[in-house]
Amino acid sequence: MSERVDVKVGFSCNNRCRFCVQGDKRKRYPDKPTPEVKALLEDARKDADSIVFTGGEFTIRKDAVELVRFASSLGFRRIQVQTNGRMLAYRAFCEDLIAAGANEFSPALHGPLAEIHEYLTRSRGSFSQTVKGIENLVDLGQKVLTNTVVVRSNYRHLPDLASLFIDLGVDQYQLAFVHPAGAAGDNFYSIVPRLTLVEPYLTEAIEKGLAANVSVMTEAVPYCFLPGYEDCAAELYIPRTKIFDADNVLEDYTQYRLTEGKVHGPACKDCLWMGICEGPWREYVEGYGADELVPRKDDPGEHGYKARRA
Ligand code: SF4
Repeated sequence: MSERVDVKVGFSCNNRCRFCVQGDKRKRYPDKPTPEVKALLEDARKDADSIVFTGGEFTIRKDAVELVRFASSLGFRRIQVQTNGRMLAYRAFCEDLIAAGANEFSPALHGPLAEIHEYLTRSRGSFSQTVKGIENLVDLGQKVLTNTVVVRSNYRHLPDLASLFIDLGVDQYQLAFVHPAGAAGDNFYSIVPRLTLVEPYLTEAIEKGLAANVSVMTEAVPYCFLPGYEDCAAELYIPRTKIFDADNVLEDYTQYRLTEGKVHGPACKDCLWMGICEGPWREYVEGYGADELVPRKDDPGEHGYKARRA
């Protein structure tokens, strides 16, 4: 039994992010027709009562509201829309999604300025639309858990981005270290930053959120880069998740990360955090090696700082 299901409805998208982990799937897979998605939802409901609509960009589908309403009718209690946020600039559309049953939103914003965000999304106007979308959701009293992919061209701006999220009034912002697969894998050295270089900016961005009583999560950042902020690691909280992908089903995303997605380095065997640490993405170590992973000697049972969970 999964706690959550992620349903990838197709890979069409109105952004063209340079780091997109889905790579060229939008060219290789047609969007799933409405009846197929509905059948998937019925199947998924046997496993979970929490669902994430994702892709591709779910909100550009003409049947987005219909699918949310259908999920709600099946008894999904937690219905999250994972999105680039652009369509949410239309307040009436937000209201329709909410009325249909969506009750959690995860819009993606990758920089505190249009120049940075749009360099990454390669879509002019996407920054103001996504920001407007977040404003609409906050104004409508929705739970807003943003996501930011941390790459070479935005990591120095994470503290300013944190300030923007705090000003916007989001419930949580997540800073996810880029998975070097898909487009990010194809352009590894121009996209993927060194964890060592990211750490001070990430730390400042975390501190800003916690000082403002806003939940902050990191993803794919090993504990040797999170001293004092270990409770911000999203891996501690990700529920058991089943993913309905393009043409296959991943039964357990956590197992995938532990057995295929992430790896440890040779030095990790001397780290007291090894038991709970997934390590960095496998492709990161393949590209940069594992020299940055420095074993921790402190007791992982003594977390100093408790992040407030959304
Ligand atoms: S197990 Fe390895 S990657 Fe994880 S915190 Fe320890 S040294 Fe870092």
